[in-house]
Amino acid sequence: MPELPEVETVARDLQREVAGATIVGATVNWDRTIRHPQPPERFADEVRDATIRKVTRRAKTVLMHLEDGRVLTVALRMTGALLVVPDTTPEDRYARVVFDLADGRQLRYRDVRKFGRIGLWPGGGLRSVGAGRGSRSKRTAEGRGRYRIGEVFSGHGPEPLARSFSAERFAERLKGRSARLKALLLDQSFIAGVGNIYADEALWRARLHPLRAADTLDAADVRRLHRSVRQVLRQAVANRGSSVSDYVDAKGERGSNADRLAVYRRTEQPCFRCGTRIKRIVVTQRSTHFCPRCQVEPVASVEE
Ligand SMILES: [Zn+2]
Repeated sequence: MPELPEVETVARDLQREVAGATIVGATVNWDRTIRHPQPPERFADEVRDATIRKVTRRAKTVLMHLEDGRVLTVALRMTGALLVVPDTTPEDRYARVVFDLADGRQLRYRDVRKFGRIGLWPGGGLRSVGAGRGSRSKRTAEGRGRYRIGEVFSGHGPEPLARSFSAERFAERLKGRSARLKALLLDQSFIAGVGNIYADEALWRARLHPLRAADTLDAADVRRLHRSVRQVLRQAVANRGSSVSDYVDAKGERGSNADRLAVYRRTEQPCFRCGTRIKRIVVTQRSTHFCPRCQVEPVASVEE
């Protein structure tokens, strides 16, 4: 599933490819891909003649900012991809939504497993990157008429690569959290954009066991984890993402970061630091990879 680095790569590609392009029509081939507005015919109507001003990312979602202030969001989820192709490209049975651009190209939303969602929202209120403690209940935007784009992301935590995401800030957010580190890193209301791959990679880099409770870290642990999260994400962005399964960029090409992963899907292979075989366990139903020597297992607390 595309995480922060993969979505960032797609957003940067699209910024180069479609910023300034006008959508002259949209065809929805799979109704449920459209999250908002409803019905999908209305979505197609409302997006027609819109010009894309700029493409960015928030959490694991691609944001296409339109000239008129509205925002088109694309959550790729499991197998979604955004591809820019000439309109002479043969039809794709997995293209769930096709945007025709004025210059004759198409922007295709391809999604084999159909978990991805596309929305069109009024602008406003999006400056809150990193705001909030993430404790607010997640409001669902489905079916609502006047949700602004900022509210769509109101339940999300800060962007880990934002300048404002300092070690001090990270330490503050960790304070009083008893959750296990792996679960906490996957929690989008804690920090946005980290998924299974980069959670495992960051914990290996920081030499922290995935089952450690967050409130057992000392100040040095916290700084190491903060640095590790940012390093693994930055490295992956530089390598255009990890194509461990379906992920491709806007040109349909695979990223090269999968070759650089230290633990993810390297079960039984030697740790790059110490040679110990990488272990796999399941934490909150997600497969989790770590080095049993570098990442020491926490001692059970007295209460347990
Ligand atoms: Zn090791």
